[in-house]
Order: sequence, then C-alpha cells, then structure tokens
Amino acid sequence: MNSPPPFQVNELFRDWSVLRAQIEEWAVKDRFAFKVRIKDSQRADYIYRTPECQWRVFASHNRNKEIQLKILKERHTCIGRASMIREVYNSQSWLRRKVLQHLFVTRNTTTRQIIDILQLNYGITVNIEAA
Ligand SMILES: [Zn+2]
Repeated sequence: MNSPPPFQVNELFRDWSVLRAQIEEWAVKDRFAFKVRIKDSQRADYIYRTPECQWRVFASHNRNKEIQLKILKERHTCIGRASMIREVYNSQSWLRRKVLQHLFVTRNTTTRQIIDILQLNYGITVNIEAA
C-alpha cells in the first residue's frame, strides 16, 4: 500500500508543524511508522522507524528561509508493516488533533464518545489508554 505522498519535492511549507502533520496523516493512512532523525530550526529529516526501509522525507530552509521539501523517498522497502499499525494509531499527537477536529471536547465528553468518533470517521479502534 504505497499511496501517493501528500506533497512533492520543492513544495514549500509555511511551518514545520504543517509538514509534520501531513507526514502523520500519511503514516496513519498508509500504515507505517516514522521517526525524527534530525529536527532543528533549519531542517527536518524523517525516516522510517526501522532501518530496513528507505522511506524518507527531508526538508530544509532554502535561500529565502522558506521551508522547502528537498528529498522525498516515498517507496517502502520494508516488510511487515502491519505490526506498526497499532503504534501509529495510538500516536498521542495524532489522536489529539483528530479529536479536536471532530469533537468539541467538554468536561462531559466521555472517552467512549471520543472512541466512537474515531471509529466513525476513520474506522479506527483505539484502546482506552491511548484515548
Ligand atoms: Zn517502509
């Protein structure tokens, strides 16, 4: 399952968090896990969770100090990605953002309601601890 990347080489991003969010969305959709190799004020290098895969996204400041995508290796050379699914789905930051997008969370919102929303919108079953 190699779905098309959400961005292209040379694409510009207004903020590092935008790039990060798009990678997270992609990882959930395509069921893979990534990690941050380098992240500082000038650059961000995202690679696959384990070394057997060549998947990689690298962005850095261009001459105009814009965040520009420089390297995009969207092809997975890994196997056994299924074992990563649970890990990706339970990623705290992804869950938090999805919940905020779809739900006005009040003090009265139950964990069960949050889980139902995720199930409805993404077909995802999460465990209680993660939600
Ligand atoms: Zn891979």
